[in-house]
Amino acid sequence: MNITLKTLTPLWTGGVDQTSDRLHETGLIGSLRWWYEVIVRGLGGDVCDPTSDNLEHRCQFDAKAYEKTKNVEDGLIGVCPVCRLFGCTSWKRRFELQASATRSEPFWLATNDKQGGFNHWWLSKIYKSGNSHVAFGELMLIFRWMRGYESQHEIMKALLSLVSQLGAIGAKPQYGFGIVHNESSISAIEGLAIVRQNIIEPGPKKALSGAYPSLRDYWLLQCIVPEQDANSQFAALNVVGDLQTFRKYQSLLLPVSFDIRYKLPGSNEMGLRQSYRLKHGKMPTRRVFGTLKGSERDKRASTVFVSHLYKKNEAETGYHLRVWGFTNSDTAREIEASLKSMFSHIKVDRKIIGTELLDGREVSV
Ligand SMILES: [Zn+2]
Repeated sequence: MNITLKTLTPLWTGGVDQTSDRLHETGLIGSLRWWYEVIVRGLGGDVCDPTSDNLEHRCQFDAKAYEKTKNVEDGLIGVCPVCRLFGCTSWKRRFELQASATRSEPFWLATNDKQGGFNHWWLSKIYKSGNSHVAFGELMLIFRWMRGYESQHEIMKALLSLVSQLGAIGAKPQYGFGIVHNESSISAIEGLAIVRQNIIEPGPKKALSGAYPSLRDYWLLQCIVPEQDANSQFAALNVVGDLQTFRKYQSLLLPVSFDIRYKLPGSNEMGLRQSYRLKHGKMPTRRVFGTLKGSERDKRASTVFVSHLYKKNEAETGYHLRVWGFTNSDTAREIEASLKSMFSHIKVDRKIIGTELLDGREVSV
């Protein structure tokens, strides 16, 4: 069963096998699982933490219970809705995914930040320049379901509809990659209804502590940035990634996710992170925007996601920008204000608030 997506910003694929157009599926499956967790949590479902050191916080298929009755549901008693689909100990993922894209190119990024400077260090760390690639064009996803589970493809279609409207797919979504157009998308509300119908609650609750992203805390600012606002001045060009590919596109530079998060080239605008930091200080900023600093335990994923600027088709004159997050509403409002000071003619085209979506309302501005 196939689903074809069109990339609006490239898909981050990392190192890729040059001899084929096959993509690494792990990044795609990981992001689909991540979104399914977010959505099921938002709908009030109990979701495990497959990375937890505490075994009680993880799901496991109960092989003994199953052996007694030969009823699969008895084995699945302690398994959360996400693991039912994506697998856990002794319970295989219900599908195989094969993915390919029509085009792939070596990754590059131009920046005003000089080699040896902090941002250049950070960028090289994030993008592990070298053999990194991005994929774009048509993204073909082929799902093969285990026998008896073919009807679950409906959940996958709903999930991909939600991801294409609310966020991005694949690795490094916080840095602008993986915005897609989904021709066969159903509405977000219909998608949520399908996921809700399919949630089968596990037995005892997992009682997780800690903050996990949930659709309850979600917000989206879908914006239009006119051409005049997208002109940045890239002065002293430094390139992270592949120099040869950069030279091909050198005359077409645009601010990307990194610039919007950190600093617009050639302007006094500080970017979302720095604006937030000036007001709230270092530690709260790390909590909201993430950090690579410190020990493994201190490292933190961003709760704010910023796309690159993109067009839905070549004929469009302006650009689209998608910014979304999992924070309180004050932070969402501050980010909206920062965007407006960064791009003076930006228009918020569509705003979605997770709680309203869960109540069956989709708000357009
Ligand atoms: Zn689970």
